[in-house]
Parts: sequence; C-alpha cells; structure tokens
Amino acid sequence: MPRRAVPRIVANWKMRGSTAAIDALVDMDRRAVTLPVALAICPPATLIAAARARLAAIAIGAQDVHGAPDGPFTGAISAGLAAEAGATFTIIGHVESRARTHPTPADLAAQIRTALSAGLDVLLCVGDVADLLACLPADTAFRRLSIAYEPPWAIGGADAAPIATISAMHDALRTALATLWGDAADDVPILYGGAVDAGGAAAILAAPQVDGVLIGRASLPAATFAALVDAA
Ligand code: PGA
Repeated sequence: MPRRAVPRIVANWKMRGSTAAIDALVDMDRRAVTLPVALAICPPATLIAAARARLAAIAIGAQDVHGAPDGPFTGAISAGLAAEAGATFTIIGHVESRARTHPTPADLAAQIRTALSAGLDVLLCVGDVADLLACLPADTAFRRLSIAYEPPWAIGGADAAPIATISAMHDALRTALATLWGDAADDVPILYGGAVDAGGAAAILAAPQVDGVLIGRASLPAATFAALVDAA
C-alpha cells in the first residue's frame, strides 16, 4: 500500500475497554470498508481474541509484547501469543510501557525483532530522531514497520503538538529513515500521537508527512471514536 493511499487511525485503548466496547464498534466495522481511512484498535491483550472474532475490517493490534519469544516473564505477553489471539501488529516503545518496563534501546530492538519474527507488524513509538535511531535495527523488515512520533508531554495532555512541530519532526524522522533504507524509507508510514481529538484530527492528518494518527482518550467510547473518524 503506497504510504499516502489512506491515512491510518490507530486507537490505543490502553487499560480501558470491555467486550461491550468492542460490540459498540461493530457498526463502525461495517462502515470501515467504505471509509477513506484505515482503522485499527489496540485493546488490552485480554480483549484481542474477542475483537478478532467480532471485527473484520478494523485491524487489531497489541499494545506491547516482550522481547523474548517465551520464558519466565510473569505478566508479560509474547508476540506469538498476541498473534495467536488475532493481533496482526503491535505497538512497541509507547512511553507508558517504557515507564513500566524501562527498556534499553537494545531491549526495544529485541522487541521489534521478536514481533516481526512472530508475524506481527510493528508500530514503533518514538519521541525524537535519536530515540528512533537508537532502537531501530538497520536490518528491520521496514515494509512491516510504521513509526509514531509521540512527544511525551502531549500524551494525556490538553493539547496536541503544534502542526509546525509535527511536520518538522516527521520530516526529520523521514530523513533519518532514509539514512537507513534510502528512498524505500518513503513507504514507512509516520503517525502522530498525543492529545489528538475530533477537533484536531483533520488538520493533523492534512499536515505534510503525516500518514496517520495514534489516539488514546478519544478512542473510547465508540461515539467519540466515530466523531473523530468522521472528522478525519
Ligand atoms: P492521548 O494518548 O490521545 O490520550 O493523549 C495518546 C497516546 O498515548 O498515544
């Protein structure tokens, strides 16, 4: 899919949601095939299988996976388990996950490799170019990678980053990706995340170099999500 074909809207439910919240998306799922956007949700891991069973057009992702394929990691979810439950991709490096597990750049690189090996595409969250280059293995199968620029101060905050800041950072990230993969890096989608709501989504999606949005609070309840999708 060419990078700019359709903007992506990825809903990160974080530690929220329920099977009822998935049922509330069934109408949106029916509409999704006709919409000029690609929709995805990342529900808590316990809801991935239910989401897979009930939704067809909306892609399902995990919120995080461990860097080891399996092992004695109580409370963690492996990429293989997430894939078996029905996820087709996973977020890696979200700032809230990092605050719990304190991954080193090498840990994040291991998570990326393990996820890709298990068949999951990767949506890697980064705060800046140095963060991106520190954790992204140069041999990554980049056709299965997306990036989310997520300024930590905007996540959970009142305001999204200014459009000019978003565009400048996306440009810088794109340039950094090109140092790894040349022109082919142009196909890697770069999303913005942090305080995106129905009021701001359209302007952010219209900004140069923005290929989608990663949304938290505005993804629930379903009516709020639908308002954002319609605004986009
Ligand atoms: P928010 O979260 O939309 O609630 O600010 C965004 C994110 O964590 O990706």
